[in-house]
Amino acid sequence: MNNLKTWVKESNNIVIFTGAGISTESGIPDFRSPGGIWSKMQPIMFQDFMSSEESQIESWKRKFVIDQDMKIAKPNIGHKVIAELYSANKVSYVLTQNIDNLHHDSGIAPDKIIELHGNSTYAKCLDCKKRYELDYIKMFLEHKINNYTQPPKCLDCNGIIKSATISFGQPMPEKEMKIAEEASINCDLFIAIGSSLKVYPAAGLPILAKNNGAKLVILNREPTELDSIANEVINKEIGETLEHLLT
Ligand code: NAD
Ligand code: ZN
Repeated sequence: MNNLKTWVKESNNIVIFTGAGISTESGIPDFRSPGGIWSKMQPIMFQDFMSSEESQIESWKRKFVIDQDMKIAKPNIGHKVIAELYSANKVSYVLTQNIDNLHHDSGIAPDKIIELHGNSTYAKCLDCKKRYELDYIKMFLEHKINNYTQPPKCLDCNGIIKSATISFGQPMPEKEMKIAEEASINCDLFIAIGSSLKVYPAAGLPILAKNNGAKLVILNREPTELDSIANEVINKEIGETLEHLLT
């Protein structure tokens, strides 16, 4: 921890990389902790979503359940400390696997937040990319004539509408990955926060940073896959650990 504090003081080219763990203190469960989303249901693969209307309907149903937590969530102390480091011009980019919009809500400029797995607060047509608000999708599915029998289709091109997140099996967003890779190569300190570092290609970014000369710090309450290559591993709670950076 002392190392992290010193390195943060010294650097003005930090990349912050966050996973679901940073948002648990805001009341959004992560994927892999006991009681997390995956202990309750398997993810729907992109290929299944594309090939079956039933999967699309199931996926919307799940989304509206998860949304109940996400809608009311507010940035916690961890998000706020990162926003302060950003305001102090120390952070070049926040790369996030999260889809909950909480880094935006904490006041960081949108062009400095790279959402590797998309954003769950709206939906998009997979063909023409037209944006749809979730209230519209919910109204469509819950309409008494439909009652969750037909998934929504694009009003312009009849394409499949999907939440603007990246599912397992779905290609990563190219532009975001490119910016994330460049930021990882160019930073001098890469801090991975609240990620089990199991989901690739996102988990390749800390490796890229380390291989290009950055110091790598991993903050997570339990061991991760990449601890052996980190310069410092902090197995503590995120909020209280980050709070100390400002004192
Ligand atoms: P993960 O669930 O695999 O790992 C989260 C890690 O954070 C775990 O190792 C856990 O021990 C740790 N953790 C949880 N709360 C913590 C705390 N308060 N202090 C310290 N450590 C804590 O998450 P991941 O690596 O981000 O991968 C899961 C995928 O699921 C991501 O791709 C993401 O897109 C998606 N997801 C996003 C959200 C969100 O947007 N908030 C929530 C769930 C899942
Ligand atoms: Zn369309």
